[in-house]
Amino acid sequence: MLKKARTLSDEIVILRILNNRMLLTEEEKKHLYYLEKGFEGEVMFDKLTEKLESENLTLNDLLLEVNNSFFQIDSLLIYQKTLYLIDVKNYEGDFIYKSDGFYTINGKPLKDLLAQLKRCEFHLRQLLQKYGYNFPIEAYLVFINHEFTLYQAPENRQIILPTQVNSFMKKLNSIPSKLSDRHMKLADLLISLHQKENPYVRIRKYEYVEFQKGITCCSCDSFSLSIGRTKLTCNNCGYEEEVEIAIIRCVKEIRLLFPDRKITTNLVYDWCGGIVSKKMIRRILLKTYKINGHGKFSYYIYE
Ligand SMILES: [Zn+2]
Repeated sequence: MLKKARTLSDEIVILRILNNRMLLTEEEKKHLYYLEKGFEGEVMFDKLTEKLESENLTLNDLLLEVNNSFFQIDSLLIYQKTLYLIDVKNYEGDFIYKSDGFYTINGKPLKDLLAQLKRCEFHLRQLLQKYGYNFPIEAYLVFINHEFTLYQAPENRQIILPTQVNSFMKKLNSIPSKLSDRHMKLADLLISLHQKENPYVRIRKYEYVEFQKGITCCSCDSFSLSIGRTKLTCNNCGYEEEVEIAIIRCVKEIRLLFPDRKITTNLVYDWCGGIVSKKMIRRILLKTYKINGHGKFSYYIYE
């Protein structure tokens, strides 16, 4: 049973906006690609755990802290007797395993994935002990992408290669399990301990003036839109979106990028590049948000 769903991280969403509205460095582009790819793989794995019929609680995407160390869990499956800790990798292409770890086909060493997994398992165990739980943990590294090949793959039962994913899921599905309140409590505890502020986030400092203003097409990211009475049409791909939805989308962008800024009609008008009239923006904002103050000094608040 899904207990905690996965959502796109603020880091990905912010980097996507930055990528649309300013020039990213090659390094930043690579980082965004890496995050998107990772997320895509995790979602692929979620589709498999959703189908599990054995009794378990699935917690996706946990960021936890114990003894001042942060650790991230892609998926945690709570079964009656055992916790399954899964690290999903969406690597694509050819890789080699040598005695000291994973390498690209060109000989470039990767991060030590098994050590990372061990560290994660160790911290989770510490955290469980801290709260008086003593479940055994089984940790796995799941390579989800069918285009992933690992030469000289070691006989390591913690490594699940793409050709083994199906049998791994079958194994999970055949685990006899009966959950109790205690499991529910553990799941609730872990969710309550989930950290919202990720200390590993890598985003440059930015200023409002650096952003290209305008509304972007939510299908192809183009800034070239035509406005009709109630709809915006993309001149590049033809995608149509209600003006109202596009404006709210822009407000969400501003709130995420500049959490301290007050949302005013003028600010939203400027962010949208002047394509939608202030009158229309005001009408839309009044429908969704409450207004605080009067005239020039009024701004919108959200509950
Ligand atoms: Zn478009």
